[in-house]
Amino acid sequence: MREREYDMKVESDKVVSIDYTLRNDDGDILDQSSPDAPLAYLHGHGNLIEGLESALLDKDEGDQLTATIAPAEAYGEYDATLVEAVPRAMFQGVDKVEVGMQFQTQMGQGVQIVTVKDVDDETVTIDANHALAGETLHFEVTVKGVREASEEELDHGHVHGPDGHHH
Ligand code: ZN
Repeated sequence: MREREYDMKVESDKVVSIDYTLRNDDGDILDQSSPDAPLAYLHGHGNLIEGLESALLDKDEGDQLTATIAPAEAYGEYDATLVEAVPRAMFQGVDKVEVGMQFQTQMGQGVQIVTVKDVDDETVTIDANHALAGETLHFEVTVKGVREASEEELDHGHVHGPDGHHH
């Protein structure tokens, strides 16, 4: 326990630490933070999905909240046009292509993750939807801490330090 010096609310450019549990519509746990390692993120820089950042805005340290987030504010609607069959020959150097495997492909400036949906001798069916596309997400969140971001963190648009990313 430590004394709180002043109230700091969750808002843009603050570093926020959260404990969270993410469930799908069936109540299955999809993801959660480790008990002793809250997730730290820089608010307002697109580091969390839009719907979760909106739910956290103006919360205080110690606040608990639940948020139900529709696909449009999470990982998008499932887009059937992102499923395509490509020649098996595109997977040169991969001994065995199996359903469920994930590959990275270069897409313009970014890297796209695709998941193998089906395989036969000639073709591999790949799906470029996010694994959680089309899912309504149910979060339970506890705000563990809110602090000012450093200049460098603001510059980079993400958190540094013990809970964040290191250079
Ligand atoms: Zn950085």
